[in-house]
Amino acid sequence: VNDDAAVSLGIDLGGTKVSGVILRADRTIARQRRRPHDSSGQDALGVAVDLVHELLSDPASTSVDCVGLAVAGLVERHSGRIVRGALLGLDDSPIRERLESLIGLRVFVDNDADATLAAVMQDPSVSAGPDDVTVLMALGTGVGGAVAIGDRVLHGATGFAGELGHISIEEPGLHPCPCGSSGCVELFASGTAVSRIARETTYLRTTEAVVAAADAGDRTARDVLRDAGTALGHALAPLVSALDPGTVFISGGFGHAAATHLLPAIEARLGRQHSFPESRRLPRILVDPVGPMAAAIGAAVIARSRLAHPAQVPPLSFTRSH
Ligand SMILES: [Zn+2]
Repeated sequence: VNDDAAVSLGIDLGGTKVSGVILRADRTIARQRRRPHDSSGQDALGVAVDLVHELLSDPASTSVDCVGLAVAGLVERHSGRIVRGALLGLDDSPIRERLESLIGLRVFVDNDADATLAAVMQDPSVSAGPDDVTVLMALGTGVGGAVAIGDRVLHGATGFAGELGHISIEEPGLHPCPCGSSGCVELFASGTAVSRIARETTYLRTTEAVVAAADAGDRTARDVLRDAGTALGHALAPLVSALDPGTVFISGGFGHAAATHLLPAIEARLGRQHSFPESRRLPRILVDPVGPMAAAIGAAVIARSRLAHPAQVPPLSFTRSH
């Protein structure tokens, strides 16, 4: 096998844009592209198919034999069906079948935060022992999450492990969440939540404006971001007790943009309920080192791995009950 050969293609179907990478066998990037879409599922899929065709026509892609697709939402991995999509019109969508018929290659679908963590865990700057737990919170339109033991991202009994955005941080019923529960941290710490809270309580109108004002020293904007960080710390506290993670990575567009304000607030909140402080250190809270292409890279890594090891994702009891 030629180690320089490009072998897999990864696509991240994000809330406002589609990202695509061609990955070599040594997991370095041969090509990368980003394209905006109009935020509807139909347009996003169309843009994704165009991007796949464009990347496959590149001379670097002659050995590509599979495509990984990362999407926000609940994914049934073995069928490649989106059970509940964050993008309009993609609920209960057999996206793997549709893409395979359009591009003629095997397609593997996974959750975008899980793909992001898969990319982070294979980054040369990250090292975790086989028993180390790593947590990722992806802050964007919503709050995605993922948990890994060693470099293995956990799927859970129904395939939906790591939905950390839906950890509740208050008493039931106060703030209903679109997921059907209430009080979820996503309602307080996503980019969407921050812009809503800013519009309700300040003169600032968008998440970008809040971050820019906070960067410039605006006290009100800093308070909004500190409250979001405090909410994230509140959600992470039980995970720290349960799993003893070595590192928590913060990723996503909003996470990267607001990291200098969020990270100290997360650390401060964790420090206020720190059990056994003399024996046990809190996890490092870091920005993910891979950046905006992480979910596309992780999707390509996962596709390669699932093509080579089909038994990795056995059918789940959840799918048999349907
Ligand atoms: Zn929720």
